Amino acid sequence: MSTMTQTVFFEGKKSVTVVCQHCGRFKSFEAERLRSHGGKTVPVKCACGVRFQVFLERRDTYRKPVAIRGCYWCVEPGSIKRWMTLENISLNGLRMEMGPEGMEKITLGDKLKIEFPLGGVEIRCSVVVRNILGTRIGAEFVNMEYKAREVIGFTLMV
Ligand SMILES: [Zn+2]
Repeated sequence: MSTMTQTVFFEGKKSVTVVCQHCGRFKSFEAERLRSHGGKTVPVKCACGVRFQVFLERRDTYRKPVAIRGCYWCVEPGSIKRWMTLENISLNGLRMEMGPEGMEKITLGDKLKIEFPLGGVEIRCSVVVRNILGTRIGAEFVNMEYKAREVIGFTLMV
């Protein structure tokens, strides 16, 4: 029996869904009913009989550490595609390690296009550079498509 704790976050959502790691069944909860349990771990019992723990993450800025190879390019002025490594991701944004040559032309407020594989699909989106630390960039998503948001949200849950 799995004792793994899943993390879900519910801010700004109508409902949240958890997936039983044992049988794959989905179970949904109204976000409103979870609010008072924010920041706590709650037990969930699946229809298959398995019990597991769900941590109700209060912050919608919860960042999941990842190590995903992707690429990016500048929009204005346009640049060639370069490799970057995604270091963490949240529903609002992400942090990337760009490599020294990639940093030459990047400044705060720049708009970048990025591409990276996640959950079996290729995510393409626009970000704005919000902070720069050496060769690392913190960026915020802009105009994210629903599908991409859904895939990222799902990744953050498991
Ligand atoms: Zn189950």
